[in-house]
Amino acid sequence: MDLKNDKTCPWINDLSARSNIKVLKKNENCEWLIVGAGFTGLSAARKLSQLHPDKKIILVDSQLAGEGASSRNSGYLVDTTLNDGFTSNKDLVNYKKKTNIYKLGIETIKRFIKEYQVDCDWNECGKYFASSKLKDRKKLEKFSETLSTLGFDHNLLLNQDLKERLGTNFYNIALYTRGGILLHPGKLVRSMIDILPENVYLYENSSLLNWKKNKDIINCNFKNVQIKTHKIIFATNGFLKSLGIKKNYNFPLTLTASMTRSLNDREFKSIGEPKEWGVLPIRPMGATIRMTKDRRILIRNTAEVHNPFKMKKSDLEKRSINQKIGIKKRFPQLPEDIIQSSWSGVVSRTRNSSQIFEKIDKNIFAAGCYNGSGIGVGTLFGEQIAIKASNENTNEINIIESRNKPTWLPPQPFLNLGIRSRLIYERFRSKLDL
Ligand SMILES: Cc1cc2nc3c(=O)[nH]c(=O)nc-3n(C[C@H](O)[C@H](O)[C@H](O)COP(=O)(O)OP(=O)(O)OC[C@H]3O[C@@H](n4cnc5c(N)ncnc54)[C@H](O)[C@@H]3O)c2cc1C
Repeated sequence: MDLKNDKTCPWINDLSARSNIKVLKKNENCEWLIVGAGFTGLSAARKLSQLHPDKKIILVDSQLAGEGASSRNSGYLVDTTLNDGFTSNKDLVNYKKKTNIYKLGIETIKRFIKEYQVDCDWNECGKYFASSKLKDRKKLEKFSETLSTLGFDHNLLLNQDLKERLGTNFYNIALYTRGGILLHPGKLVRSMIDILPENVYLYENSSLLNWKKNKDIINCNFKNVQIKTHKIIFATNGFLKSLGIKKNYNFPLTLTASMTRSLNDREFKSIGEPKEWGVLPIRPMGATIRMTKDRRILIRNTAEVHNPFKMKKSDLEKRSINQKIGIKKRFPQLPEDIIQSSWSGVVSRTRNSSQIFEKIDKNIFAAGCYNGSGIGVGTLFGEQIAIKASNENTNEINIIESRNKPTWLPPQPFLNLGIRSRLIYERFRSKLDL
């Protein structure tokens, strides 16, 4: 089934339209094929090109490059997370491994934007883990202990402070972490497309339908055409499972988000003219909510089992109504029609929230499943899977490979039943903070 950009995401609509789009129209042969052109695939292509400047590298995407989840996210480049999927930071050793990976992700993005002089609205303004419920203090104090042990700069804030910083008195308690960056994901991923080197051939609106390994050649079938490649990297994240990659270890989830138009001077004044900020929820299904530097408010408060290839307009509208309620709960003074657009995006999850970074078979590699950290970790994993696939090693690969590996998932229909009931339970627990 084909994926098509539905043109609903403002991060994409902020950018100028691209003109150099090529669709796969004839059979091709190559040394390397990368499937999926988001942060992971683009970074894998960039790195492979540096490692193999004389080889032909093909990068394909079902829709326009970068216009999947990589443009459709909330734009938090995270150094720490409180909820990662459904799991919390119970185990210090594993949490440290996780933050080591986040740190490498941030460093990889920093290196990239410095080298290519990228403007992606980078703002090192930190982030808030916030709740409307004072009784969440216990959870935050526990998190604070973990952060202190690991040396992350942070402090606890209460209602009045939060009101001044965020422009809403909705939140009663928050833990502010100084690390973490807010950025414009559309601009960042577009810059990765713009600088693709010459030996990377990008084909868009070109869906890989199926693939088969035959001795040393991997035959990849697209509509009416075929690519024969020696090596392949799967970087399709939410669509790994649909291509049969690690299918008992990951599952797609569909997220929806909405963004308001820019607040006008009067509206902005009415909320106290706050600087750009980002709030993450304390419970897994609570709302992520962000004030952008150009006074737009973004809200994401759903995650669900849904057909990953399509969300109907009417389904999106239902979620958009809930997101308007979420915004009005925090900013009652804003008008009813403040939301400008709503969109969906697909991510991939594993049972224990660990990422996939793997050689699947000889010459077949995959990277994905980053939960809410794919901007940095996807970019890191893309570069490092290219290095691993080239039979080289790095300190980064050692750090990545020391993480817990994804655990096995039950088959359908038990899997979807299990996920759905867990999501309902978590949504219920977060209902005040949606
Ligand atoms: C609403 C939302 C909010 C989020 N917030 C954050 C956040 O604040 N911070 C953060 O770090 N992460 C966030 N994420 C997660 C983050 O966006 C992802 O982890 C990241 O984009 C993964 O990058 P990727 O390149 O691996 O996958 P994607 O960007 O999904 O790219 C995969 C590509 O594969 C293509 N593809 C799929 N199937 C095929 C096929 N058969 N043939 C060819 N191409 C195919 C798709 O079209 C897609 O472009 C959020 C995600 C969503 C949806």
